[in-house]
Amino acid sequence: MYRAIQITKDADGYQARLAELDDDNLPEGDVTVDVAYSTLNFKDGLAITGQSPVVRKFPLVPGIDLAGTVRDSSHPDFKVGDAVVLNGWGVGETHSGGLAQRARLKGDWLVPLPAAFTPQQAMAIGTAGYTAMLCVLALERHGITPASGEVVVTGAAGGVGSVAVALLAKLGYTVAAVTGRPQEADYLKALGASSIIDRAELSAPGKPLAKERWAGAVDTVGSHVLANVCAAMKYRGVVAACGLAGGMDLPASVAPFILRGVTLAGIDSVMCPKAERLQAWQRLASDLAPEQLARIGSRVIPLADALIVAPQVLAGQVRGRVVVDVNA
Ligand code: NDP
Repeated sequence: MYRAIQITKDADGYQARLAELDDDNLPEGDVTVDVAYSTLNFKDGLAITGQSPVVRKFPLVPGIDLAGTVRDSSHPDFKVGDAVVLNGWGVGETHSGGLAQRARLKGDWLVPLPAAFTPQQAMAIGTAGYTAMLCVLALERHGITPASGEVVVTGAAGGVGSVAVALLAKLGYTVAAVTGRPQEADYLKALGASSIIDRAELSAPGKPLAKERWAGAVDTVGSHVLANVCAAMKYRGVVAACGLAGGMDLPASVAPFILRGVTLAGIDSVMCPKAERLQAWQRLASDLAPEQLARIGSRVIPLADALIVAPQVLAGQVRGRVVVDVNA
């Protein structure tokens, strides 16, 4: 038997509860994992509360991230006792996920836990940190180096933004951090931001082209902020767009792309190919300093509290990352 958060949808409606399950509840897969830690992402908040149709199969265990130890494996790459991490692949949406003491998964989805991290640290990073690394890799792939010029990060005090600021600063980039929370300026400077920009400067409708400011950008916000960032990119600048915290729309013109050769690079963490995931986790191990990870901060909650904290995550009442100890 194992404990799990389980979501059901039936005549009684949409419900998330703490349940005691047996192995018959595990989905198909070639690797069974004893989960040590999971985390609460925005998407997990949506799944647990049912605010958006994230869960598309019932009953289902939510949790898009997990870290743990292989309990049983018929996959050639994994043996009993291996430490592993999982992010995305539809886990916690269409395949039961990490908010449980046990999970059964496809071995092809798993990444070996880098030796640099404990399972708890891996979950403090979670999909947010892994996505930030994917954004940095995209800037590098498109030729943006510290010598290219300043890089701007929007939604900088959020999970993805914080890790992006820390990574870029460690790699030698000059980082401008856009935030709607001026009280987080000292925190962002401690992570390595050189300057702080008030979100209000970028959140109103802007011109198709603005003064050239940035060589690179990591955007977690979308909407007018992304449009204004694109308009203010330097010639051949690159924008890695991963989020929609400010809206799903993109009220922009083609001017930055056809007149300045700006590249808009889309970032998706869920179906990202395995080779790039392995690279992202290796690079997190080398480029995310432990003291920066500690500064970003995380609090550890027991499994049952995921039900209480999920709506708080959606309401923006939680600072830093939330790690779930599924065995507590
Ligand atoms: P967080 O909630 O931790 O951070 C989002 C940040 O965005 C906030 O801290 C805030 O930054 C800023 N923000 C919030 N609301 C608004 C608004 N109305 N207008 C402008 N800025 C706003 O989320 P994450 O960092 O975990 O995720 C960021 C985004 O990336 C989300 O949209 C998420 O869905 C997406 N995402 C996408 C992934 C992918 O695979 N593409 C993977 C992971 C996340 P500040 O306080 O500094 O202003």
